[in-house]
Amino acid sequence: MKMTTLGHAPIGHVVTSTLQGIRNRVVADDRSGSVADYIPELSLANPDWCAVALVSVEGHPYVAGDAAQPLTLQSISKPFVYALALADLGLERVASRVGSEPSGEAFNAISLEPGTGRPANPMINAGAMMATSLVRASNAAERFERIRQCLSAFAGHSLSVDEAVFASEMETGDRNRALAYLMRSAGALQGSVNECVEVYFRQCAVSVTTRDLAVMAATLANGGVNPVTGIDVVGDRIAGHVLSVMATCGMYDFSGEWLLQVGLPAKSGVSGGIIAVSPGQFGIGVFGPRLDRHGNSVRGTNMLRELSSRFDLHLMHRSPQSGPVVYRATTAAASPSHRTRPGEERDALQTDAGRIAILAAQGEIEFAAAERLLWTIEHSLEARPEGRALRPQPEAQWLVLDLRRVTRLHPAATHMLDAHLTHLLAHDVFIAIVQPDERLLLPAAGEFDNCDDAVAWCEDALLVARR
Ligand code: GLU
Repeated sequence: MKMTTLGHAPIGHVVTSTLQGIRNRVVADDRSGSVADYIPELSLANPDWCAVALVSVEGHPYVAGDAAQPLTLQSISKPFVYALALADLGLERVASRVGSEPSGEAFNAISLEPGTGRPANPMINAGAMMATSLVRASNAAERFERIRQCLSAFAGHSLSVDEAVFASEMETGDRNRALAYLMRSAGALQGSVNECVEVYFRQCAVSVTTRDLAVMAATLANGGVNPVTGIDVVGDRIAGHVLSVMATCGMYDFSGEWLLQVGLPAKSGVSGGIIAVSPGQFGIGVFGPRLDRHGNSVRGTNMLRELSSRFDLHLMHRSPQSGPVVYRATTAAASPSHRTRPGEERDALQTDAGRIAILAAQGEIEFAAAERLLWTIEHSLEARPEGRALRPQPEAQWLVLDLRRVTRLHPAATHMLDAHLTHLLAHDVFIAIVQPDERLLLPAAGEFDNCDDAVAWCEDALLVARR
């Protein structure tokens, strides 16, 4: 008999066919916008190119359309170079040189703080050139090489410059030069304007594919660790910081509307690429050279809008955690162990076994799950089995907390549980924790490998307490 294997292909097919459908729809429906021509070489792009790629934080890639077609990074280089400057100098020193406020203006606006010349944020050209100048190096060549290596680490392979695009912007990029001179005259930009602008134009001209864009975005989604190579490129603190700035400033003067409609941190570039990040889940790259009046890819924007709604990715539309944190809540009255005890003990336990609450928790417990767990603990201690007041004060109670299926306790959750269990222990609640290897350090009266032993221990203690 022929067996069907359930391997990677069918899963890939499900996601890829959705991407394909979204891509085909925008290709059929949308021919609006125009290709950037203020950098002459960019105007040679085929306006019909259209691609979408998605890479999960496990490194699984899904692509549709012209995902292998090279494009230059342009402004998409900005968040990554900003990340490198942050890694070199730290948050505070970088913040003193470039802000993190949305300017609400076009990418090439003269948006400098009056007096200091400090640019509003690193996603507009002035702020991006500032970030470039902050990358640690002893000369321009070394600075660009460090930037190229950083961009390559985000993409997971060695990237190079499209020399024609670079030369084209070198010839025509007077507005950026003017911006750099303005910053220098205000004392904000240090060092040579020519060197700074040249390195910036080079980083903009680094050639990638839409697939690369998705891997770069997935690295930000994955706390700064490239999910394909496993290399920690910038660490999760910097990745989180960069994503926050992308969320408020990444889409030029369309950033507010973008957050409403798509709800993902993103960065676009005038070559027609956009990266978008679903933190902890996916990186997405899209490409379509026709731009709208803000300078954002029209097809790219439409594909991301649809992807966000199809896959429910909007950051502000988070529904409550799907699985319950407590999967079993009962009392020792329902436990089989006391039925095997001698008659007198059994009778005593039958009356009082409700004083032993048993809770089993599961999954990754972060702040919200911990909050629910604490409420469940509270309710279970107040339970009134068989209509009888459970806790004629000051009688003791017992709590069996089964944590065998907990995969991770976040620091905030550890802190909350620690404080609450300590409080309970001080108020006549004896806590028995069930976990095989004591990997979670929590206050308890007893630690057990399995639930039956924990319940038996509580029952013994209860029988002693009744005497
Ligand atoms: N190199 C381009 C410039 O500075 C990048 C602009 C962009 O992609 O928004 O004009």
